Amino acid sequence: MSLKNESIVNDEGKNMKQITCAQCKSKILPPNMGTYVSEPELELASFKTENAGQLEKLNEFFRVEDMFDFDNLGFTNTIDNLKFLSCADCNLGPIGYHDLNTKLSFIALSRVQFID
Ligand SMILES: [Zn+2]
Repeated sequence: MSLKNESIVNDEGKNMKQITCAQCKSKILPPNMGTYVSEPELELASFKTENAGQLEKLNEFFRVEDMFDFDNLGFTNTIDNLKFLSCADCNLGPIGYHDLNTKLSFIALSRVQFID
């Protein structure tokens, strides 16, 4: 685990901080609801304006077992078995994905903010 993650992942491997939208600060996931996983690796379309449309390889996520654990959640599009997640308020996304087969959701660490 990198040094950066020590401040956002607790000893049980859960997110120790509230996860919010990086743009509008809307609440996405309460503390302790996500489990840190460094797999699976997935490509998500970038939402940074300068890289719009490009794919970015991500492999650090918080896995969420139950969709009802989220504070708020929106969806962008569905590709194959993956439903891509976005901010429910400002639609910033994709910030992660929901796997329709396993019912597990994954929030990309680099796509969200963490607040105390
Ligand atoms: Zn937002």
